[in-house]
Amino acid sequence: MAQRIQQQQRSSIEICSPSTLEKIGEAPVYTPDEVRAAVERGRKAATVWSGMRFAERRRILLDARQRLLDRSEEVIRLICNEAGKPRFEAVTMEVAYCVDALTFYAKQARRFLQPQRVSPHLLKTKKVTVRYVPRGVVGIIAPWNFPLVMTLGEAVPALAAGNAVIIKPSEWTPLTALLGAEILRETFKAHGLPEDLLQVVTGYGETGGALVDEADMIAFTGSVRTGKLIAERAARRLVPVSLELGGKDPMIVLKDADLERASSAAVWGAFMNSGQVCISVERVYVEDAVAEDFTRRVVEKTLALRQGRDVDAQDDASRVDVGAMTFPKQIETVEQHVRDAVARGAKVLAGGRRAPDLPGRYYEPTVLADVDHSMQIMQDETFGPVLPIMRVRNEQEALQLANDSRYGLNASVWTGDRSRGEDLAARVEAGSVCVNDVITGVAVTDAPFGGVKESGSGRRHGAPGIRRFTTEQVIVSDRFGLKREMIWYPYTAKGEKLMRRVLASIFSSGLGRKLRAMFG
Ligand code: NAD
Repeated sequence: MAQRIQQQQRSSIEICSPSTLEKIGEAPVYTPDEVRAAVERGRKAATVWSGMRFAERRRILLDARQRLLDRSEEVIRLICNEAGKPRFEAVTMEVAYCVDALTFYAKQARRFLQPQRVSPHLLKTKKVTVRYVPRGVVGIIAPWNFPLVMTLGEAVPALAAGNAVIIKPSEWTPLTALLGAEILRETFKAHGLPEDLLQVVTGYGETGGALVDEADMIAFTGSVRTGKLIAERAARRLVPVSLELGGKDPMIVLKDADLERASSAAVWGAFMNSGQVCISVERVYVEDAVAEDFTRRVVEKTLALRQGRDVDAQDDASRVDVGAMTFPKQIETVEQHVRDAVARGAKVLAGGRRAPDLPGRYYEPTVLADVDHSMQIMQDETFGPVLPIMRVRNEQEALQLANDSRYGLNASVWTGDRSRGEDLAARVEAGSVCVNDVITGVAVTDAPFGGVKESGSGRRHGAPGIRRFTTEQVIVSDRFGLKREMIWYPYTAKGEKLMRRVLASIFSSGLGRKLRAMFG
């Protein structure tokens, strides 16, 4: 009875669609005690899973992929409703990413994590093996901008590495994470495994903090501010943390660039997901000679975008390109950045306001010109549909301005000369740089992705993206079984002399010297 009363009084989060502002569901707020209990259940579940062979885990993850595909329509609709995305983006960005992640890590986990033999350069009498041991229970703390990718998508490599996972989704988009986890939990159950291999604890920052206090590792994606708080808290227990934080990604357009492709990329790269993308184009530096032409194309393409709600549009006439803004505070940040820019002399060439005729939280795709680095729009992460374009004299100035940022997540360079572009890309301070492309760095699951400077310290994808969910254990085993080693007791003059001869013979340069050291 007491338990039932407690459940009735439990606080919950009301979830409203950003497209309509109507309530679409609720999620419970997990207390620190409940988080602790979830971690204990996860730890127990992990003992079975971590002992399984890669081939067995692969079979189960590929079955989860099929189940996700089978229920994809339900998932797509929920993402559109909960995050306000256009349907096309829910398919291409969210479901496609998770289906690919399940395939990639199911198949590649063995390649990245099978024990590696090391051949010692010195201690030839030893056999050395590096093992990748799962950490136990991985806590994933996620943002709201990609509610499936950042929760389920991030859980996949951690699971493939043999861990149990607990997801703390954003309080703004927990329903998608719950549905994604339900599909995986059903899969585990169908294979006779504990469902608690994947759990979701919904709630606010306090729930996330409790997870930091209990889990064996934290994979955090979110703002720089929260990332620092989590790193500090995890440091109290010396628990490893990977941090995927914000960005202020520059796009450098040189005068020999294909302006048709570059302008289309700028518009998509800035307005996709309403600009709520950590690697969206947040600032453009374009060479004077082509600035007018480039800007004209960008404005034309921006004005042609369709904005609104698009959950189940099937025909092109009812589709939209730009959806709503998921997080109420983010639209205020956008307004503040545009206001500040205009007050300091920026010109609004398109948009510049909330969409007046739409019922939900929409900000019009906005293009700004005459911007400079005194403005917030060129300094702080806007995370909204605004594309500020700054003219520069030349490549050097563009590079210097691109690197004048506390962020370093991603960037792009545009030029007709690819090798010049790659040289310039190598001088941009960012974890990934595209040449004549945008955003795609994060889609290359085979290569590491992450930031430098305040954009974070973790890497998702590739070998580091899965190895971060393990700890390296080294097994050193003696090959010959001598009665004693040279460096063991007792210490003797004869032993020292022998040691010095060995040192000289190994480390002296030149054959003559080596021989003299050995025999002379
Ligand atoms: P946020 O930092 O506000 O919240 C992220 C998560 O942390 C949420 O689940 C939140 O409940 C939780 N949280 C908040 N306070 C906490 C605390 N004290 N302890 C533990 N957990 C806490 O970020 P957001 O607004 O949800 O997401 C937007 C940010 O995410 C942007 O800065 C964006 O650039 C970044 N992001 C980065 C990447 C990347 O790969 N680098 C990807 C997506 C988003």
